[in-house]
Amino acid sequence: MIDTPHLTIAQLADAWQHICAASPADKADPLVLDCAHRLASDPGGEHAHVWVSGLVTMSGYLAWRPGQTAERAALDALHAAAKALADRPCSHDSHPYEAEMDALEDEVWAGDNGLLTGELASPDGDTDTGRILCPVNVAGWARLAADVIAPFSVRRIPAGAPRYHHSCIRTLSGIVNDYPYCDPHDVLTDEAACLPPQPTRGVLAGYLVTMNATCWYAASERITDPAVPAAMLKGVRAAVTLLSDHPCTHGPGEHPDTNDPDHLNRVGYLLRSPGGRAEFAEDYGWDVEDEDEYEEEPLDAWVCPAFLHDLADETLDALKVG
Ligand SMILES: [Zn+2]
Ligand SMILES: [Zn+2]
Ligand SMILES: [Zn+2]
Repeated sequence: MIDTPHLTIAQLADAWQHICAASPADKADPLVLDCAHRLASDPGGEHAHVWVSGLVTMSGYLAWRPGQTAERAALDALHAAAKALADRPCSHDSHPYEAEMDALEDEVWAGDNGLLTGELASPDGDTDTGRILCPVNVAGWARLAADVIAPFSVRRIPAGAPRYHHSCIRTLSGIVNDYPYCDPHDVLTDEAACLPPQPTRGVLAGYLVTMNATCWYAASERITDPAVPAAMLKGVRAAVTLLSDHPCTHGPGEHPDTNDPDHLNRVGYLLRSPGGRAEFAEDYGWDVEDEDEYEEEPLDAWVCPAFLHDLADETLDALKVG
């Protein structure tokens, strides 16, 4: 067990760097809790950037199998920091956190954001310390991390899925609309195999939604090689075992309607990044409405394990019949 209160910031930062999805909870949770408590005790404070940096660095762990208390503490602290910092006046037209939304997938922990010190390790990006440590930028990173850990738990994330995800949507759209322009055998086999071993909630949900959007096609006579539905069956079965035990918080009828494969195909890839989820949420007015307003359709139902279990069962049935 790490004696966190007696570590310097440099020692803590080094410990954060070693936390990843595969870290054991008894090693990671104390670091997360320490960092979250320090942020929560002064979420708008002058050192908030340090603690936000810590939680962003550890978000790969937090997006996979964190202890429940650590996850809750991290999310509460990130939400509090975002709230306290986002509306500070500043003179910048833009901030580094939003500079690469067209490439930013869920791995927000992987990049060099400079939040710890105000300086980037590599001089390629935006090296302006004022913009890096600007409260608005710190708030931006807090929101990105919160959205990766708990998709759709925060608003005001810049909308726009990564370019690569848009290109996947286009390719798959040809298939679900029944005029593919790439070989559907190859595309569907690749899709079935693309899930990483420790996906974020958004990536896992997106994978299962895409599999459902395309299963009718894979089960039809258009696909002549039985290896394709077999690969999808295998992929979906494996994905179901990765669903978390977050309880369903939705009422009757609040799980999404899944009758339109073209819509599902789009959602399937938009679910896999912060910018994609924000793009999807625009359809529901998230860009114009404030937080805490009444939600007609809870968007977090798209990542609800109970919903995804049912969706996967439907997918598996369709693939088995075909
Ligand atoms: Zn500081
Ligand atoms: Zn600023
Ligand atoms: Zn649910």
